[in-house]
Amino acid sequence: MNHKGMLLVICAPSGAGKSTLIRMLCREFSGFGFSVSYTTRQPRAKEVHGKDYFFVHKDQFQELAKKKFFAEWAEVHGNFYGTPARQITDSLQQGQSLIMDVDIQGAMQIRKNLGQGVYIFIFPPSLEELRQRLMQRGSDPAGVMEKRLQNAAWEMQQSGFCDYWLVNDEINTSYARLKAIVLAEKLRPYLSPDLARKIVSGERYDS
Ligand code: ADP
Ligand code: 5GP
Repeated sequence: MNHKGMLLVICAPSGAGKSTLIRMLCREFSGFGFSVSYTTRQPRAKEVHGKDYFFVHKDQFQELAKKKFFAEWAEVHGNFYGTPARQITDSLQQGQSLIMDVDIQGAMQIRKNLGQGVYIFIFPPSLEELRQRLMQRGSDPAGVMEKRLQNAAWEMQQSGFCDYWLVNDEINTSYARLKAIVLAEKLRPYLSPDLARKIVSGERYDS
């Protein structure tokens, strides 16, 4: 195996467009797996259990958290969300890159516990545009939407620890920037630990 897996942690206030950008990225970069989280929130209309999330009851989530099943977990907008630890360790050990969609608390925990990864924070162009996108998505009752908007300001204020800030204004421009980040990060030496040694010792190295 020439390459190690990259951990891409994407963080954004709800409605900023991260699911849209992640979908575009996974379509183009087939080598990325997506980390499927557990949540206690109700599924939205088109969400599929095991693909978008594992939807579980609060008791089950708490039982799993107690057993240290999650690499990180957090309460977000009144529901619990957690990333199974096995998904991260299995993917990275197998040299597979992984995209994680977590809230800011989860991203901070992963960075602290794992000490690796590329952390991208996606901003909406404005709070007004964020409100419009949440309304356009139409998947949240009014009270839930207000809660998401209130959290958004706090999340944006915590984003200083991320490696990249990306404003999702025009979708194709934003995607081009996200892709540029991924292409550059793929060239980091830690992802190809044998590269220099192999070439120096006369072997061919195919990227
Ligand atoms: P998140 O996963 O961050 O909660 P989504 O990807 O579900 O957000 O996007 C929220 C809504 O905004 C969706 O209806 C989506 O189609 C729309 N959207 C995403 N990016 C843009 C953009 N750059 N311009 C306009 N609308 C967008
Ligand atoms: P949504 O309910 O819109 O799918 O997600 C709400 C928030 O929870 C988003 O900010 C999303 O990134 C976050 N989230 C999704 N999965 C996880 C997870 O496994 N851990 C944490 N900490 N946050 C998550």
